[in-house]
Amino acid sequence: MKSLGIYIHWPWCKTICPYCDFNVRKLEDIDTSTWRKAYEKEIENISFFTNLKEVKSIYFGGGTPSLISADFIEKIINFINNNFSLSSNVEITIEANPSSLKYENLYNYKLAGINRVSLGVQSFKDTELKFLGRDHDSDQAKKAIKYIEKLFFKANLDIIYGMPDQKILTFKQDLREIMDFAQTLGHLSIYQLTIEPKTPFFKQLKSGKLNLPSDEKLSEMYFIIQEMSEKYKLPQYEISNHSTIGNESIHNLGYWRYNQYLGIGPGAHSRVSKNLNRMSLVQIKSPRKWLEAILKNTNGIEHREILSTNETAMEVLITGLRLKEFLPAKRFNKFSKLKLEEIIEIPLIKDLIKEGLIERKESKIRTSSEGKAVLDSILYRFDQVINSKH
Ligand code: SF4
Repeated sequence: MKSLGIYIHWPWCKTICPYCDFNVRKLEDIDTSTWRKAYEKEIENISFFTNLKEVKSIYFGGGTPSLISADFIEKIINFINNNFSLSSNVEITIEANPSSLKYENLYNYKLAGINRVSLGVQSFKDTELKFLGRDHDSDQAKKAIKYIEKLFFKANLDIIYGMPDQKILTFKQDLREIMDFAQTLGHLSIYQLTIEPKTPFFKQLKSGKLNLPSDEKLSEMYFIIQEMSEKYKLPQYEISNHSTIGNESIHNLGYWRYNQYLGIGPGAHSRVSKNLNRMSLVQIKSPRKWLEAILKNTNGIEHREILSTNETAMEVLITGLRLKEFLPAKRFNKFSKLKLEEIIEIPLIKDLIKEGLIERKESKIRTSSEGKAVLDSILYRFDQVINSKH
């Protein structure tokens, strides 16, 4: 069954965290009913780009979508249902920040149709939360987890590691607490702190004010996470994602399996089928211009292009090799000129198998645990082969 996911991007946050490079803005005095109508109009506009009708997942991301009312969310879900049709086991996620969460809000989200919450906790240490510029503390996070646990079967805990001066010993202690909570919710997304250009942290790094852990230390932390998550029955199923059995994110699996998805909202991306290839659609990045364009009866699309087979082949690898499951040749070959069976016989790629970074089973491949830790260099070699630079 072909799977379609819909991503709704809400660009507003109460405060902007110094490490964040998502397309976000500080919350302004906005007219939410105008914004809701714009989302509805754009859902309709963009629905013509796909031939798929059944929606397997909806994801309200951002930004801080938990600043939106349950009524707004419910209307958007109903609108999607009227333009497509929601699968009987559709997964509908909302990203939430502990600071904007009350039991009552969560209860109303549930009534509105939300059945999964991704909670941006980032850390259970107040010093780290302060460093990250978060507007919640660990008590608020723990309270939010309790509420979510009571109301939802599926939920995720979002965590960041690799903070300045983080010691291995204390990291292990902190990780136990994180795993305890993640086990309760059934899912953990744990990302290494990365310093992106144009963020306040980037400036601090350049001026020598951020003392980040070395690559060796980060790699040690990565393997500690893998080991501990196995013990807690939260095995890795994607580089940064862990879950108990059956609690994987359906929406994100859609990206990693290179399924079609529609992204609606400022700066959101889509991948849709176009003949035998994939088309990329990118929405206007500026929230104000995005809204204006839609209200002027055009649409929110800034850029559209049919991707070349080399581009799609690389995208299948970039996404699929993040997963623990094998990447089947059938999926890859659909989007590539060179067959996967041919590629894995080329010495540059064969070496990856010999080095234990890529595992092969018949005509399927996946990255080993060691391979996942050096995915960029693996992809670099595939890129050389696919773009005939070898
Ligand atoms: S709350 Fe999330 S989306 Fe908003 S600024 Fe912070 S990291 Fe970015």
